[in-house]
Amino acid sequence: MKCEAYLGTRSELSIGRTGAVMATLGLVSCTKSKQPHACPAEEMYMPSAIFRKAWQYAGKHYDSRGVLSAKYGLLLAEDVIAPYDETLKSAGGSQRLAWARMVLDQMRRRLDMSEIRDVYFHCPEAYSYPLATLLEERGTKVHLPMKGLRQGEQLSWYGRQGTPSAAPSAGQEQSGEVLEKELLWEGQLTFDWPVAGPEQFERACRYRVAVRGGQTTDMMVAFGWRPAFGRTRRRIIAFMTAPALWPAVELVATDDYDESRQLLWAVKQPGSNRHYAPLEQPHPDFRPFRLVRFKDHIRAPRSYSSWAVLLSEDDIDSIIKLGLIRATHKHQPTARAAPAAVKKAAPTRPPQPGSPMTNTQRVRQYFTEVRPGGATISDIQRVTGVAPYQQVYQIVHRLVDEGFLRFERRGRGRGGGKVFYLSETLPPTAAPKAAVPSGRPPPGQGRRGPTEAAAAQRERVAGSLLAYGEELAAKGQSGIVEFTQDPAANRLILEDPLAFVLGVVCDQGVKAETAWALPHLLKARLGHLDPDRIGQMTKQELAAVLARPSALHRFPNKMADYVLAACEKVVKAYAGDASRIWIGCSSSSEIARRFDEFRGIDQKKSSMAVNILVRDLGVQVADPENIDVSYDVHVRRVFLRSGVVDRDSQEEVVAAGRELHPEYPGALDLPAWYAGRNWCHPASPDCGGCPLSSACPERVELDVETF
Ligand code: SF4
Repeated sequence: MKCEAYLGTRSELSIGRTGAVMATLGLVSCTKSKQPHACPAEEMYMPSAIFRKAWQYAGKHYDSRGVLSAKYGLLLAEDVIAPYDETLKSAGGSQRLAWARMVLDQMRRRLDMSEIRDVYFHCPEAYSYPLATLLEERGTKVHLPMKGLRQGEQLSWYGRQGTPSAAPSAGQEQSGEVLEKELLWEGQLTFDWPVAGPEQFERACRYRVAVRGGQTTDMMVAFGWRPAFGRTRRRIIAFMTAPALWPAVELVATDDYDESRQLLWAVKQPGSNRHYAPLEQPHPDFRPFRLVRFKDHIRAPRSYSSWAVLLSEDDIDSIIKLGLIRATHKHQPTARAAPAAVKKAAPTRPPQPGSPMTNTQRVRQYFTEVRPGGATISDIQRVTGVAPYQQVYQIVHRLVDEGFLRFERRGRGRGGGKVFYLSETLPPTAAPKAAVPSGRPPPGQGRRGPTEAAAAQRERVAGSLLAYGEELAAKGQSGIVEFTQDPAANRLILEDPLAFVLGVVCDQGVKAETAWALPHLLKARLGHLDPDRIGQMTKQELAAVLARPSALHRFPNKMADYVLAACEKVVKAYAGDASRIWIGCSSSSEIARRFDEFRGIDQKKSSMAVNILVRDLGVQVADPENIDVSYDVHVRRVFLRSGVVDRDSQEEVVAAGRELHPEYPGALDLPAWYAGRNWCHPASPDCGGCPLSSACPERVELDVETF
């Protein structure tokens, strides 16, 4: 069977970013039996009995698991792949070594290897060696439980293991163990939600619960019905009762509740209301529960793709236990916030030791006592020490919503942007709006006059985007260096300016990985990437090279035309050296204009090119304020659904970027692209896992294709 390209997405790179413990990793090898169609790796090998057993075993006994594929190397459960017909069993020693090195490189990039202590191979020797040796050399403990067992013996081995204990492994602390419970009260309950108002529960039970360590606590479990995911569903809430009644977990009935009597709770991350994305590891405290995909059990337009705990309605102990765990987690610091807080400079006016002051109080105090006359977000962040950026944005805009603060816009560029004032303080005469460089229209021109609330909403989304961009940068995921799965292709993009230009030119109508891999694969087919020699080919010759199986692009004729034109331009206008497009040019507008001159390059591609050059490849420009967001389909969808724009037009999308982050509009580009590609899908957007969910109004009914 013909092998097709790896179809996975960049979201998989996020595994382990929550800081979840990944002490043990189980690796299961691919099998000859496969599904006949493209699907997630987890499903691809399910026709094989040995894979099913090994995979199930790895899921129950190790902190994380992956597949070792002869074709793709390391695969995580959600990696979507096409069927293939390759094996390492017939590969020679040097081929296996090259494969093992590739897998080790993928493990370094996709997993937090510093957290992995033990690796368990459930594979034949062809897959475990020499990878096991390479891992041992870097200090990882390697285990080969299948060593010396034939296939039938392996199946019996799995059979003998029986149902593994659901208890966490020794040394792991399990929060929320319910030892005993006593019913204190039973009756009806009305709970007043802050926004949704009162909700009636037909039955509620208050329990006194004894937990490990001799402590007791009170909990209320309430049973009701409520419209959710397209119909009225059973709902159970576990409330903590102190200091006041507050909902710890809300369970909702599955689609087959009438038969199964089961409910789901979409698992949230400690210290946050954010759900776990499908490729993130839920906290080990949830391991004793049955973890499933939420949308596998509730198939509705706005269902989540996150992890969920599946519980039976009458399993009150587990419901209470889940509530206790969530109560413990609720106030834990988020894994995402911690590095940012460390990264920020120490505040110049730190809170006094033991001070009970909250961040919001700190910001209030700053305005009332220090700067009633106006401060920028950067001033507030620097002086109050509140971090990260997103949190400062949220606090400040909440204070704007409350009427405590107001803001004025002070032009564009560095030092421009918004200045916040105490509401009762009249701002000094506002500075005239700065002239817009490079003859562009002023920010916001052509847009409908926004209400202050809508403006504040957009600001919150921008804050989330910027914070997410910082998070990506901190994890080293902001660069083109990881646009393909092939390190050699990435290296070529970094080392050969013509490869970069051709990647930009061909980024159209295919996945980004395909476009960025094209220069490397073309070089392999031609034996060179010399613009002069390529320019001497006919369009038909080049198109035939591009179209040769496996085709390097969906549109070989069009790309042949673009590539030939690009090579001709590089030879004639830049003396054969593509780096002259940007080297020695400090104006981002001029670099974008030069890219615009290439055939096949539009606003989307030229803005993307300048963003990558400046953000990832270290090209210095004097005018980052002139780098726009790309009018890319993912950016457009996210801008539209998050309320950043009301219309899907290039003019509005670009103007919104300039308005929301005038210092560097292009900084919004990559985080919006990632959010669009990984969560904000055209159908079934995954708002629960999306990093913008705390700020986004989730206008999921909108999509770019509808305009
Ligand atoms: S996935 Fe949801 S939260 Fe994220 S941008 Fe799209 S609509 Fe907003």
